[in-house]
Amino acid sequence: MHKTIPFFIGGHEVAGKGRTAPVFNPATGEQTASVSLASTAEVNEAIAVAKKAFPAWAATPPLRRARILNKFLGILDARTDELAAVITSEHGKVLSDAKGEIQRGAEVVEFATAAPQLLKGEVTENVGTRVDSHSLRQPLGVVAGITPFNFPAMVPMWMFPVALAAGNCFILKPSERDPSAALLLAKWLKEAGLPDGVFNVVHGDKEAVDAILHSPDVQAVSFVGSTPIARYIYETAARTGKRCQALGGAKNHMIIMPDADMDQAVDALMGAAYGSAGERCMAISVAVPIGKNTADALIAKLEPKVRALKVAPGTDPDAEMGPLVTKQHQEKVKGYIDAGVAEGAKLVVDGRGIKLQGYENGYFVGGTLFDNVTPDMKIYKEEIFGPVLSVVRAETYEQAATMINEHEYGNGTAIFTRDGDAAREFAHQIQVGMVGINVPIPVPMAFHSFGGWKSSLFGDHHMHGPEGIRFYTRLKTITSRWPTGIRAGADFVMPTMK
Ligand code: NAD
Repeated sequence: MHKTIPFFIGGHEVAGKGRTAPVFNPATGEQTASVSLASTAEVNEAIAVAKKAFPAWAATPPLRRARILNKFLGILDARTDELAAVITSEHGKVLSDAKGEIQRGAEVVEFATAAPQLLKGEVTENVGTRVDSHSLRQPLGVVAGITPFNFPAMVPMWMFPVALAAGNCFILKPSERDPSAALLLAKWLKEAGLPDGVFNVVHGDKEAVDAILHSPDVQAVSFVGSTPIARYIYETAARTGKRCQALGGAKNHMIIMPDADMDQAVDALMGAAYGSAGERCMAISVAVPIGKNTADALIAKLEPKVRALKVAPGTDPDAEMGPLVTKQHQEKVKGYIDAGVAEGAKLVVDGRGIKLQGYENGYFVGGTLFDNVTPDMKIYKEEIFGPVLSVVRAETYEQAATMINEHEYGNGTAIFTRDGDAAREFAHQIQVGMVGINVPIPVPMAFHSFGGWKSSLFGDHHMHGPEGIRFYTRLKTITSRWPTGIRAGADFVMPTMK
């Protein structure tokens, strides 16, 4: 009998009463647990608990809120290994990579511990005679985060540290494929002193998400996941009058200019394309070498490295790449490789046939490399989200930049070059939200904000950093006149500075 992963509501684990879904270890293909899928009523219960906790939490001085987050940071640091093991067992990524995502999430907690500074308002003295104005940022109320499978700790931490620091209560609906990390985070927040009801976790699928979207008591929704669902979340949130930031899928290109340091570019591509088995929204999935010589040199250096990739269970200390998250996803990625071959791309390294001794039922796909991919192909247009790198040859920089600008997605991109002019032009003109210059995965640090353009983000605010503070607060501007004794008589024209 498998254990059933519960919710975390009002400071306690709460068993689900209805449907469940299986949770697997992707390295072995074995079911390790079930997860409760919340009904509309169960989600509403969690929202009611959060709503009740809101007034006291919103009234808690920001410095005290920050101290709790600071304690949580200490717990995260001390128990990184425990959390990483949980992530690897349900997601499949290698342990060192799981620790990396915890570190990047912890940096957002660190940022949020500056709450008293971050929430400071603005004051103008004497906007009129003896009239002063000041503006404040106040919390929204109950806010929700709906997160994807690929970063079960980091993506929730893009959201809740900033939301809590600003005085909101939070409902997290993590991916039902790797739900255990969220529960640990909830328990550790409680241990750090967070009052019950301020942070709650409900697991579930569309029913739970729809309950969040339709609740009049949820003020804002942060979403990260695939583009079709992001679009749905954004449209529904708009209809139900909620603030929304919905981050979607990606197809990230890396341009390799003829003057690039080829060894550096190849190393960067290996990590960016195959790290976490390509299941990163900032993974590079398209390499665009400029000119035939650059392309030939790139393929010659890449091919042996892709063949030599060490694919193994995430718990193997030598593993460079683990399995994919589910059997269905493994089938989907293999299906894309079939499609690439059928469309006429040149399959240089084929990862479909990989079998690991002792892990025959694991969801592994080996590193895969395509050459001569063209922009009309399905494997170019769509997000594969696996260890598949497509090389699209371009004659000129302009051709490559146009291709990137015309792509549906605009999450991340990079250029490798020694030419400052080309790098500046690229940074200035490219229609993508996060840009790397000789940096393959330009994920902004916690004190900047994370987000893409075009179909990679719906909404006005990016995640964490200053944009996160704006998203999770609303602005109030107060105009006051002192002393009260002043009598100027009734005035029927628009107030002006006299
Ligand atoms: P997904 O869209 O399948 O799921 C994301 C969340 O939505 C999950 O919590 C899931 O339970 C929920 N969901 C799924 N189907 C739903 C439906 N029909 N109605 C309502 N909710 C639903 O995404 P995933 O497979 O978990 O994650 C991978 C995707 O996330 C990739 O496309 C990747 O690019 C994207 N991603 C984007 C970013 C970014 O910053 N832009 C970051 C990480 C992942």
